[in-house]
Amino acid sequence: MNDIVIFCDFDGTITTEDTIDKLLEVYADKKWLEIEELWEAGKIGSKECLEKQLNCINRFSEELLSEFIETIEIDNNFIDFINNVKAQNIDFYIISDGFELFIEKILEKNGIKDIKIFSNQIALKEGKLIASFPYYRQNCEAQAGMCKCNTIKNIKLERKIIYIGDGRSDMCASKHADILYAKKKLADFCSNKNIDFIKFENFNEVQQSLAQEVNFNVEAGYAIR
Ligand SMILES: [Mg+2]
Ligand SMILES: [Zn+2]
Repeated sequence: MNDIVIFCDFDGTITTEDTIDKLLEVYADKKWLEIEELWEAGKIGSKECLEKQLNCINRFSEELLSEFIETIEIDNNFIDFINNVKAQNIDFYIISDGFELFIEKILEKNGIKDIKIFSNQIALKEGKLIASFPYYRQNCEAQAGMCKCNTIKNIKLERKIIYIGDGRSDMCASKHADILYAKKKLADFCSNKNIDFIKFENFNEVQQSLAQEVNFNVEAGYAIR
């Protein structure tokens, strides 16, 4: 199916909890919560928020990173879904305001390989986690670390856009979707703004709905399981 492209958020959409929040809860000084409040109130964007919060982690290491990755769970329907996506040669991109290193490791732990990821970068230098933001765009209304709307505009190429997400970083991008799957904050936002969306709780619901909407084959991946 070359006529559709799927963009999918990571934290809270593929994972059951927000990875960054979990990292901060366990490893950061309590100051991170005050910074979170500023972000919740819309006083700072998520780029500034992430930079300041990471600074609340005083010492980090490869060992702590592996230990942390082990604690992150994904939606247990996601593996079935992604196998079906791959078996049908559908272009699939993870588009995340989290960090590529974490995403790669979490996918790898679940046996998922070769997924294209657009997200922020993180590196471990002398016990500190240092973020960088290659897809940041100053004028993005979401003020996220990465501008999802612009990233989508750059790769859509006249195909039907399927978007799957749950939170604030998805709000600007959701307006560019032809079919939008939303839950939590994103679903509330779309209801308030009269943006059409399909409510979902897990990836089995997403693929059952895609079967209706675009003839997605929910058994295509059997051969590669
Ligand atoms: Mg999310
Ligand atoms: Zn944007």
